[in-house]
This record gives sequence, structure tokens and C-alpha cells, in this order.
Amino acid sequence: MRLSNARLVDAHPSIAGPPAGALVDIDIVDGEIERVSPAGSTPSVGERHDLEGATVIPGLWDEHTHMGQWARHRMRPSVFEAASAEEAVAIAAQAARAHVGSRSAADPLVLVGMRDALWPAPPTRELLDAATGAVPTLIVSSDVHSSWPNTAMLARLGLTLDTALLREDAAFDALQAVEGMLDADALDRHVVDALAGAAARGVVGVVDLEFDDAVGAWMRPGRATPTRVEVGIYQQDLELAAERGLRMGDAIVPPRQRGAANARVGRLKVISDGALGTRTAWTSHPYADGAGLAGAGVRNVDDDDLDRLLARATELGLGAAIHAIGDAAVTAAIDALERADAGGRPRGGDRIEHAQLVDAADIPRLARLGIVASLQPEHALDDRELTASLWADRAGDAYRIRSLIDAGVRVVLGSDAPVTPLDPWRAIATAVTRTRDDEEPWQPEEAITIAEAIAASSRTRIAAGEPADLVVLADALPDDDEVSRDPRAAAKRLRSTTARATLIAGEVVHGSL
Ligand SMILES: [Zn+2]
Repeated sequence: MRLSNARLVDAHPSIAGPPAGALVDIDIVDGEIERVSPAGSTPSVGERHDLEGATVIPGLWDEHTHMGQWARHRMRPSVFEAASAEEAVAIAAQAARAHVGSRSAADPLVLVGMRDALWPAPPTRELLDAATGAVPTLIVSSDVHSSWPNTAMLARLGLTLDTALLREDAAFDALQAVEGMLDADALDRHVVDALAGAAARGVVGVVDLEFDDAVGAWMRPGRATPTRVEVGIYQQDLELAAERGLRMGDAIVPPRQRGAANARVGRLKVISDGALGTRTAWTSHPYADGAGLAGAGVRNVDDDDLDRLLARATELGLGAAIHAIGDAAVTAAIDALERADAGGRPRGGDRIEHAQLVDAADIPRLARLGIVASLQPEHALDDRELTASLWADRAGDAYRIRSLIDAGVRVVLGSDAPVTPLDPWRAIATAVTRTRDDEEPWQPEEAITIAEAIAASSRTRIAAGEPADLVVLADALPDDDEVSRDPRAAAKRLRSTTARATLIAGEVVHGSL
């Protein structure tokens, strides 16, 4: 098959290839790119699709998602816009009324998007009980690190609680227990639908860091999807991974099995600190409002635990993805990876997830040790006010994507769906423009180019021998001059980019050529 007259975006500056804007013909054989040649310069064999100058980019990856949660989140009521606890419970009251008469009336009710750090007064149990009555209700924070249950939900979970909110492990456990009460077949259908929705945005692959034995979930036949999935393993499931004998990169279901999903084993995921919105990200300086738990956030694993987990991951042939948001957590993660490196752990497979606040001294260490920084640019704008108020004079060290790339750190982008929607164009737009809507660009000196943002959101290149994971865009992209002239207009355009066709291994999985 030939895609003729395709327009390419310049690759990452370190990659040789045809110049930006050049029209090329892309020949695809057996799921791979066989040849990329200047348009019309070589004879075409087989099926030919004239793209008439449409832009073609490598298939996009979302490098950090929680697929089960995202699949459900897409269908859950959100309190994201609520500016107070009262506004949130008004939304919950309406959702509870609708829930009672719905098909899922027997399930607990979950709302999402709580941003209580921005509310003038803290939430209370009484307020939520008055709005939701006997319907077991949980309102999950937008960073998923805390949640607000009503009394009926606590009874359903068998919990007692002195405070209004569940935080960190208690919040993760509660959400996991609630998800466990819901039907797995329905979840699988929602996950497959969510990935089909993502393909319309050009997504060919996701990293799934779902909490509850995601590898087991991807063994279910209901998860068959053409999308590539790399599945994380949490520390509590590490020995299960050992029993299954699965190493990183292994297919979770034999690829030729009927209905098999395209899922492979990914990295060990370790959550080493909390999050900014919950004031639990572990920082080297106390929070400016004095409200950080213990002053400077929470550390979830100590050095010994990190060393032990990394040693076991090395034995099992697994990469590591260490969640570290505050600068102290990032330093501790790098220290642990450096010790593992000295102990013979293979270099290059490990990531720090989020890396929201990075001490300047740690940037060259990430580069030297080949540690990938996995960032979610949308968090930068969602957390903009919080970063300014809580991290104050340290805010300049937040989301330094330009600095990381310039120092030679490999950066990959993601959404952390459900925290932000599974849509790489949001991450790309924010990384490139550092703005959206009518906001002034935030720390514009840390912006990266469109080509860099696409390279950080894909795993392949448009070159001979690469998998034919490709996206034909429905719209032309702005160029970098347009971005610097009017970042807000460019942000709007980038965020609304859609795929005319998405191909995985040469197969059209969305749209048409
Ligand atoms: Zn996450």
C-alpha cells in the first residue's frame, strides 16, 4: 500500500529525514514502512491512496493512563467546575437522583474532579449526606489521591473515618474496592470504547498503569483491541508477575490467540510520594501555606524499600516507573536508580512519572543515568494556581520540559487519564504553547517545538523499517512561527486537531484513507 503526497512534520532535530513540509510517498508492506521517498519519485505498486498534502505524523502514545478508571470516568458526573463544597454537593444531589432510577442503581455512585484545595471551606460529611442520603457516594479528587465519601459509602466499604476525606493509600483502597463492586464485562466494553475514542485523536498506544492487577485485566478476552497497550505492575502484584513468568515486553496473551488484545508487559510502578493538590507531594522545602502534611508532603516508600523493589524488578526483567512529584521524591528516586545502576541494573528502561518539581542539580543526573522523564503537561496548567501558592519561590523549577530536553533527558508525554482526558493533543498543545483559553503563557521559556512534542508523544518514526503506526491528520498544524506570534490561537488549533485516519501496523483502525 502507498500513501502518496503525505506532508511530514520535521522529526526531532536529532533524527535525519526529509525536511519539514516536504511531500513524500510512504510505502507500507506487512505492517511496516518499507520506504519513504520524495513524492512521485518512485513507481507505485499495489493500492494507492492520494493524501493530497495532508499531514502525516507517527502514531501517538499516551505514556501514562489508568484505563479502567478513564473508561468509567468518561461516563461519570464531574465536580471539576465546583468552586465550593456546596456547589459540589449540588451536583452530587442531582447525580444521586438520576442514579436511583438508572440501570446501575445497585452500584455505588462515583463523581470525579474534586478540587477541594481551591475551595474556601473544607468539605464535611454532613454536607454530602444531606445531598445524597442513602445512595453510597464517593467524590474523587481530580488527582485521585483523595476522596470524599458519604456515610452510606463508608458503610458499604466497612470503614469508619474521623475526617471528611480519605487520603493517599486509604483513597486508593477505597476507589479500588468501589471499582471491584462493578461488573468486569461492562468495564472491558468501556475500555475498548475508550481506546476507539482515543484512536480518533490519533492514539495507537497507551501505557496502562491501572491499580488493580492490570495484567490480569488485559488477559480477559473482552479486552481485544487493536490499540497497543503497555501494562504496568504495582508492587503488590510483583510476585504475581514472577509466578506468571512475564518479563517486560512480553505479550500478555499469545498474539495469535483468537480475540487477543495487543497488550504487553510494562514496568513496575512504585508510588513514592503524593500529589500537589492533596499537599502530599514530597518536597525539599515546606509548603508555602504551611498545610503540607508534615510540612513538606508525604514519602510513601523509604530507601530500603525502593532498593528492594528495584532489585526484584531487575531479577524479573522489569523496568521501573517511579511516581515522584515533589523535588525530594525525584531526588530519592534518582538516588535509588543510581544505586541500582551501580548494582548492574540495565540502563534505559526506567522512568520517573510526573517529575513535576525537579531540582536543577538533578536534571543532568537524569540525562547521565538515562532515566526517562514522563510528564503530563496538562497538570501544569491545571495546577498553575496551586503551584504558585504552595510552591511559591520554587515554582520556577516546575514542569521544566525545555530544560530537560536541552540537557539530554528523554521526555515522554501523557495525560494521567482520568486526571486529564486521554487526548495527546492537549499535552502537545500545552507543551508547545504553555497556555490555553485566555491565560497568559506560563513560564513560556520552557515551551518545546511541535516536532519535539510529537516526538515525545510517539514511539516510532516515519522511516523505512519502522512499524506503520501512522496518523493522517484532518487539519494542518500551525508552524512554530504561528505559535510564537499567537500562542493562544495556536493552542486552540492544536487542541482541536483530529485524525482523518489512524493506522496501527498498516491497518486502518479509525477513519478512512
Ligand atoms: Zn497516574
